[in-house]
Amino acid sequence: MSNPVIVLSKLRREFPSGGGSVVALKDIDLTIRAGEMVAITGASGSGKSTLMNILGCLDRPTSGSYRISGHETASLTADELAALRREHFGFIFQRYHLLTELSAVGNVEIPAIYAGEAREKRRARATELLARLGMSDRAGHRPNQLSGGQQQRVSIARALMNGATVILADEPTGALDKNSGEEVLRIIDELHAEGKTIIIVTHDAAVAARAGRIIDLSDGIIVSDRVTKSVAAETMRSGASAAGQIVRTPALWSWRLLDHITEVFRMATLSMAAHKLRTFLTMLGIIIGIASVVSIVALGSVAKQKVLSDISSLGTNTIEIFPGKDLGDVRSTKVRTLVIADAKALLQQAYVDGVTPTVSTSTTLRSGPLEASALINGVGEQYFSVKGTKLAAGAFFDAADVRDMKQDVVIDENTRQTFFGDDPDGPIGKVILVGKVPCRVIGVTQQQQGGFGSSQNLSVYLPYTTVQARFLGSSSLRSILVRVNNNAATDDAEQEVIRLLMLRHRLKDFVILNTDDIRKTITSSTETLTLMIVAIAVISLLVGGIGVMNIMLVTVSERIGEIGVRMAVGARRSDILQQFLIEAAIVCFVAGALGVSVALGFGAAFNALVPKFQLSFSWISIVAAFLCSTGIGVVFGYLPARQASFLDPSAALSRD
Ligand code: ADP
Ligand code: MG
Repeated sequence: MSNPVIVLSKLRREFPSGGGSVVALKDIDLTIRAGEMVAITGASGSGKSTLMNILGCLDRPTSGSYRISGHETASLTADELAALRREHFGFIFQRYHLLTELSAVGNVEIPAIYAGEAREKRRARATELLARLGMSDRAGHRPNQLSGGQQQRVSIARALMNGATVILADEPTGALDKNSGEEVLRIIDELHAEGKTIIIVTHDAAVAARAGRIIDLSDGIIVSDRVTKSVAAETMRSGASAAGQIVRTPALWSWRLLDHITEVFRMATLSMAAHKLRTFLTMLGIIIGIASVVSIVALGSVAKQKVLSDISSLGTNTIEIFPGKDLGDVRSTKVRTLVIADAKALLQQAYVDGVTPTVSTSTTLRSGPLEASALINGVGEQYFSVKGTKLAAGAFFDAADVRDMKQDVVIDENTRQTFFGDDPDGPIGKVILVGKVPCRVIGVTQQQQGGFGSSQNLSVYLPYTTVQARFLGSSSLRSILVRVNNNAATDDAEQEVIRLLMLRHRLKDFVILNTDDIRKTITSSTETLTLMIVAIAVISLLVGGIGVMNIMLVTVSERIGEIGVRMAVGARRSDILQQFLIEAAIVCFVAGALGVSVALGFGAAFNALVPKFQLSFSWISIVAAFLCSTGIGVVFGYLPARQASFLDPSAALSRD
């Protein structure tokens, strides 16, 4: 006699039901030897499927012992049981349990994928098996393009894929017509003749009669166990092989990693393609989230840059030095200590980009019948670059004009409107009277954009030398305006200015106004803006992520059957976990790509419609969006994927 492959003793399986429990198998003792063909019969509900599931390691007994070739299964881990299913058992189900999105050959291959077999090898073997079962011309067909009998032959090929030694068939002909059923039974007979151990559940006496041994179950108890053909004779003929070497295939994380990963990707994309609408809906949240994040970041940075450039055009990176002990010192106009030599000394400093002395007075402007009072700014040639003032027309005066005390004036927009508002030729080259001094208009400044500079006052700019000589009759300065080098810290520059002037004056007869403080205030408010943008981004991505999780959870519960099939043919928990995680990651990655495209499209439309602002998308924000969306897939896909991987294979299969 051959070796016992399967030994059950006092095996019991109870299912919790209501408060108590249903006992599906009551202390079963059973031994099955290698090469036997055993039929299990019994009325519906007698426990046949429960027994098959336990034999095939899809389910665990409540108590009692199940040994496979002498190894106790109770102590095996989930992955070791998966290895047994993968290497030693082949399942044939009443309802075939093929995966609908895969072709016949794709279905046959699955067990070999989980065994880590190379692609060409398993493809060749799957094709060969299908050919042997007369399915060559149907290898590329999907299950729904095949008849029941053909589907069952595909599932038989799948059962044989990894060279199973024990074939478990749960009513394999139950859903088939007579001819197809006969065909399937003939194949099973053949497999038996080759030496496979066959266990077949049936309630058809004719089917059972083909087996050498018939076990009759009733209410979870074996009521009869008859040998109808000599087992010894059969095993002599076949040289049956024993099952049950527990092969510990290394986990696939390290095993043929690349091949495995491409396989997982292929499976994931196939199932996404099979459920386009669901996939798209899953993506929608992420698409909207990423698109809005990327555009908000771009909009925000444009707004921020605009604010910052406005600030710098107001000349905030400047230090202004006034004579006197305090700001508003009444005697300051009489203090004559701030002189042009101070300005020249300051210009030599490394941290200084530009210096301009200023003097000021006010007087009346006249041109023909028009007259208006105006602020007269006497400034150096660097004043405009220090202040960041831009011209609407004409030019500024230069160093030579300042030296020569030229009577050239740059007027502001208010002055232009007042005196030359309806002059078609514009003001350039015209002469106006500043007080009693005739001056040639050489430039018009742009209106200051918002903020501090704009007012209704008229303001004109003359070389400070001209103002000193013609209007003030004094060589002292109202202030010195210093533009600090962008690379220097304004606070440090302020200390340096104080040190330098103290050296020159020997006492502190000056006051410093550091406009950087204003910039700091505004910068901090734009930082608040950035923070708000980031908060909105995080919230919208979180919402997208939760959407993904929801739909993935639904997906998992929709695909419990598929998960059960994969587990039945030997998928490890980690395989299932990876599959769902990678699906979630791919969905979110693709959604991220679509989201970024939407944002770029929005940007292009925005730039076309609002030419004043040009949106530009930073590579960093795009790459970050991708990383973020993929990360969301992994993080929010994890829970559903884990839930899928912890499903119980027999429960998953029965929920169909
Ligand atoms: P058969 O395959 O012989 O028709 P089963 O093995 O499916 O019978 O079922 C045997 C008994 O166990 C039945 O009473 C059935 O209601 C019960 N049973 C089977 N599976 C479950 C389950 N998952 N939960 C609760 N009861 C179950
Ligand atoms: Mg059943």
